Amino acid sequence: MRSKLGIEVIDAHAHFMTAGSMRAWAQRGRSMTSFQKRTATRTDMKSIEMPDENFDSAQRWADELDRHGVSSVGFMIGPETYDEFMEARRRFPGCFLGYLNVQPTDPDAPKKIRKAAEDGFYGIKLYPSSWRGVHAYDEQLRPIYEEAQRHRMLVFCHFGVSIGGEADLRSGNPIDIQTPARDFPELNFVIAHFGAGFFREVLLMQYQADNVYMDSSGSNIWMKYLPYDLDLKGIFRHAIKAGGANKILFGTDSTFFPRGFRYNILEEQFNALQSLKADGLVDDDGIRLIFGGNHRRLTGYKPRE
Ligand SMILES: [Zn+2]
Repeated sequence: MRSKLGIEVIDAHAHFMTAGSMRAWAQRGRSMTSFQKRTATRTDMKSIEMPDENFDSAQRWADELDRHGVSSVGFMIGPETYDEFMEARRRFPGCFLGYLNVQPTDPDAPKKIRKAAEDGFYGIKLYPSSWRGVHAYDEQLRPIYEEAQRHRMLVFCHFGVSIGGEADLRSGNPIDIQTPARDFPELNFVIAHFGAGFFREVLLMQYQADNVYMDSSGSNIWMKYLPYDLDLKGIFRHAIKAGGANKILFGTDSTFFPRGFRYNILEEQFNALQSLKADGLVDDDGIRLIFGGNHRRLTGYKPRE
């Protein structure tokens, strides 16, 4: 399948929001008012359609992918959306792939990872800046990495700034993943949003490790909070210079409707890369890797044709 931009697109990073997600948020005491206030000032979402029991997330997503010619999308899946996600995947083969949200303090985490691998998941997601007193490099994470490595699952990590106002940025530095990357050389780590502000650290790790990747997902608005000017083209230029085009996975971090699939992000990133191509810093093969080839290679996933 080809997008309107003429290339195959796999969105490596998005969120499958359902009525179950909303119930889980409410149970965790997450304030929707605070979330909506933060999204209003930090994102381009003008309105949010809160999924209820009648909201068919699978159908909405399948329609979005068809509309934009996107082959597949990878979702972060927690226990609250697990069954709905499995059902969505059954209804729309080849469209959706899952990564399991993992809590480091859950004693059953390795067991859940094994189950997810058996259920055809392609990765796990860690969110260290949302943890309390636990770090990505702690001993207690080892069984999680071992299990993920055993099943050749990608490890997505969200470090850096977070739309969740309760985040602890002391655990937000992607350098925390350096020793796990060293100790688990067969395991591939994907730092979301180019490190969400800790871009320098992600670039330095390209020197240190061969198994640390980055995803381009989201608006990358973190660049606004740096003490120097950086734009999307600059981000890609540095990322390619340090790690090569084979280290970047395209993503949108799409979440809610009516916004749906964030086509503007696809277009902006594609244009930034076309501009780098004009400068001779990336070629069409590199661009194809970023928009889907790297994802295929790392996961072995076959998107729909
Ligand atoms: Zn995300």
